[in-house]
Amino acid sequence: MNIETNFRQSKYCTAIENAMQTLGHATNLELLAVLREQFPDVSATTVHRATARLAQRGQLGLAPAGRDGSMRYDANVVPHDHFQCQRCFMLRDADIRDVVVPVIQVAIADCEIGGRLVISGLCKICKTFVKEEVGD
Ligand SMILES: [Zn+2]
Ligand SMILES: [Zn+2]
Repeated sequence: MNIETNFRQSKYCTAIENAMQTLGHATNLELLAVLREQFPDVSATTVHRATARLAQRGQLGLAPAGRDGSMRYDANVVPHDHFQCQRCFMLRDADIRDVVVPVIQVAIADCEIGGRLVISGLCKICKTFVKEEVGD
């Protein structure tokens, strides 16, 4: 790896970190679209490598997968729960584990919850769309 490559990668890593602060959660494809506004020539492979590196360094967390099952990154590296819109796949951070786990634990008896929780439903915007679609 030469100095030029190193420089380029850190430049893209910084751009990705900035974009993630705004987006909160994003797939490589979404990040590629944002980065191309700043660097029109950036390739999908470069974004892929940069996010993998940031995740490896613990600077990006992993969020529940996107619409097509693609990997999605999280700007918040502290483990947390999520709300996910079932229509547009928007993610929102939520911290509900401490409140709901004891309740769920009772319902599932001897089984044990692993990992963090994802609550699904409709986001504010999709709620309006769905209402219009059914003509309510
Ligand atoms: Zn939605
Ligand atoms: Zn999150």
